[in-house]
Amino acid sequence: MKTKVYLYRHPNYDDSTIIDNLNYIFNDTKVLDNLNENSKVFVKLNLLGPFEPSQACTTHPVILDLVLSILTKRISPENIIVGDNPAIRDQLVVLKKTKLLDVIKKYGVKILNQTDYLVITCNNPNKFKEFEVSKEIVQNDLIINLPKVKTHSLAYITCAEKNFFGLIYGLNKSAWHTRAPNPNEFGQAINDLFSAFLDSRNGKPILSIADGILGLEGEGPGAGGIPKNGEILLASLDPVSLDRVAVEVMGLDYKRSFINTIANERKIGNGELNDIEIVGKEIKDFDDIKFLAPKDSLSNVGLRILRIKALKGFLLEHPKINKDKCIRCGECTRICPQKTMVIKKGKYPSLKVRNCIRCWCCAEVCPQNAISKSKRPLIGRIVLK
Ligand code: SF4
Ligand code: SF4
Repeated sequence: MKTKVYLYRHPNYDDSTIIDNLNYIFNDTKVLDNLNENSKVFVKLNLLGPFEPSQACTTHPVILDLVLSILTKRISPENIIVGDNPAIRDQLVVLKKTKLLDVIKKYGVKILNQTDYLVITCNNPNKFKEFEVSKEIVQNDLIINLPKVKTHSLAYITCAEKNFFGLIYGLNKSAWHTRAPNPNEFGQAINDLFSAFLDSRNGKPILSIADGILGLEGEGPGAGGIPKNGEILLASLDPVSLDRVAVEVMGLDYKRSFINTIANERKIGNGELNDIEIVGKEIKDFDDIKFLAPKDSLSNVGLRILRIKALKGFLLEHPKINKDKCIRCGECTRICPQKTMVIKKGKYPSLKVRNCIRCWCCAEVCPQNAISKSKRPLIGRIVLK
């Protein structure tokens, strides 16, 4: 049976038809049909860090508002939990800056308890079997996943499936980059996690609603990306199908979206366009929308070559600090899983390139967009193309 992806075009967040399309999605997927006011719902945000909504790095408050307006008609607010495990700092700080806290207060719903976790198991792992994840994200009757449509320096795009990396509780996410230090291993690890998560659901639904009305292009997913009027709204019960359609409407190259291609190869979801029914608009209705790809994304050949760790230093670009933008806050050093980015009191951060695994967590969390990619060495540009 084909999986369904809902695809709509909205010029901005003031468009009064967004709510009509969201109501249609909820009705057509029937995700609320068997729930009552005592059922538990988790709303998974994308809380990358303390960014303004106009920076397009985090779930937009209008989307959360509209989704909660639908949910609270059926479910009691105290049974709706909203949140994510942001890469840095306190969840509350991030919720305030992103203007999502105002929406949470408006509806009186709860915020994720970030210290309560459990272990989920992947039955058919490629590399990793067990994951410590936030309990409240797993134990509920329905998940509404609210990712942004963004390009990503490491993963090429980040949308519905990658948003579940935020299942990893507390600030433990960056450590996974050290456990899975090359892009292919990282893609497998994300899919092990997602597969374990699906197993833990026992068929309870996950509805992803991805917002690229204002998306992010270039060196995302943080402040290094450029907000893009993508005008895209997608939804699906299969995050892998949703991401497959997202890549197409973004005008990008599916083969480079390796987390998604791995999910499709491992049959964790359906990434075959021929097996997806698109409801609403058609892909060709977005022919005029082209997202800028991240610089120096990796081909399949590149991904294979980079399995050889020793080659990274010769072939890949590395983080570069722009001292004109840096405010010496130290966020990049706190997130660095290799502890290779360091800062001395009153100085700018510095980096030992040979220990860097190019996870780009430092660039993701930098509030100033002060970390960019150095130029890829000539040999890397030839070999990894
Ligand atoms: S590079 Fe960015 S994150 Fe690092 S210290 Fe400077 S401003 Fe802070
Ligand atoms: S310096 Fe940046 S890219 Fe390199 S390992 Fe640390 S966080 Fe990752």
